[in-house]
Amino acid sequence: MGQIYLDYASTTPTDSRVVEAMLPYFGDIFGNPASIHAFGQEALAAVEGARAGIASVLGADPAEIVFTSGGTESDNFALKGVAYANRARGNHIVTTAIEHHAVLETCRVLECEGFAVTYLPVDREGMVDPAAVAAAITDRTVLVSVMHANNEIGTIQPIAEIGRIARQREVLFHTDAVQTFGHLPFTVGELGCDLLSVSAHKLYGPKGVGLLYIRKGTRICPQMNGGEQEKGRRSSTLNVPGIVGFGKAAELAAAELGAEAARLTALRDRLIGGLFARLAGVRLNGHPTRRLPNNVNLSVEGVDGEGMVLSLDMLGIAAATGSACSSSSVEPSHVLAAIGLGQDPPQGSLRLSLGRQTTEADIDAVLETLPEVVGRLRALAPRYGGEEAC
Ligand SMILES: *Cc1c(COP(=O)(O)O)cnc(C)c1O
Repeated sequence: MGQIYLDYASTTPTDSRVVEAMLPYFGDIFGNPASIHAFGQEALAAVEGARAGIASVLGADPAEIVFTSGGTESDNFALKGVAYANRARGNHIVTTAIEHHAVLETCRVLECEGFAVTYLPVDREGMVDPAAVAAAITDRTVLVSVMHANNEIGTIQPIAEIGRIARQREVLFHTDAVQTFGHLPFTVGELGCDLLSVSAHKLYGPKGVGLLYIRKGTRICPQMNGGEQEKGRRSSTLNVPGIVGFGKAAELAAAELGAEAARLTALRDRLIGGLFARLAGVRLNGHPTRRLPNNVNLSVEGVDGEGMVLSLDMLGIAAATGSACSSSSVEPSHVLAAIGLGQDPPQGSLRLSLGRQTTEADIDAVLETLPEVVGRLRALAPRYGGEEAC
């Protein structure tokens, strides 16, 4: 059996058409886009072409796009930038317990600096209640940040509704759309957000490049200070090959998204249905229907997540787990804890995320392999009569 990659939520392979588009910018077209000579101007034209293309997919004005080094920087920029710029107005941020670490750890830092953060809970299926967002906003609130879709359990949030609430209360609204841009159809207007984070390597673009959409007129403090690139909002010489690749990836994703989302949804549901038919003691984490087309997240009783991932890896299947296994305890991730998964009963989580290269044969191989792997691990697990598995 060949290698089967089912960890697209973690990163995607760079599409060969993207690599092709990037290559000239490592060679002849190496100029600095800030230079006024021909070398610089050619690079600048490529950057602005990518910016215009991505902006059109997002339904934004090109001037509202700031290129960054990826999703983590964009999240840091949005939260710190808005918090610092609006200090005179207030010191309160509303977010959720299931955000990516790039948002949560930034919030922790802001708390150390005197900001107050409300971490809203989610329900069993990972949904944020818009009414809870409304109730959490005070006259000191400067920002609401709720992710578009969760990277672990795939739940898609009611972003447009939350956006309307934030707008009505005159509070800025940021959404981390790293898992959805290029995968789900939306515009920033439909979502009603003022700020939105994207990362190229989650949509078959290169690693180390992303963007922050900043709606015109939004008060934000730059977090990278220097040569005043990106109209002073983000200094540092532009990553020209990366941005060109990002532009190509966005163009391809926009063209192929409709058919690809339908194909992946069918494969996802074949995998979920097949596993439930073959395996007892499993539960689907996340929302049954409001979930990413490519996300399957399972809790499996009597096994630990790392055991499953390592066993599958030995059989050529790359997956991920949302639990950290430390000597004798299996702690669920912050996302799994937020949807109410604890250590009792002992259960491991497994995330299988599908993508462009995933075929029906891959899904069938997992349906054959995973029940065997789980059976073998359960035979070793304490509750199932075996040794400590972790
Ligand atoms: C991957 C990811 C990030 C981080 O993006 P990087 O480009 O890897 O820094 C942020 N948020 C979400 C939801 C992600 O899935």
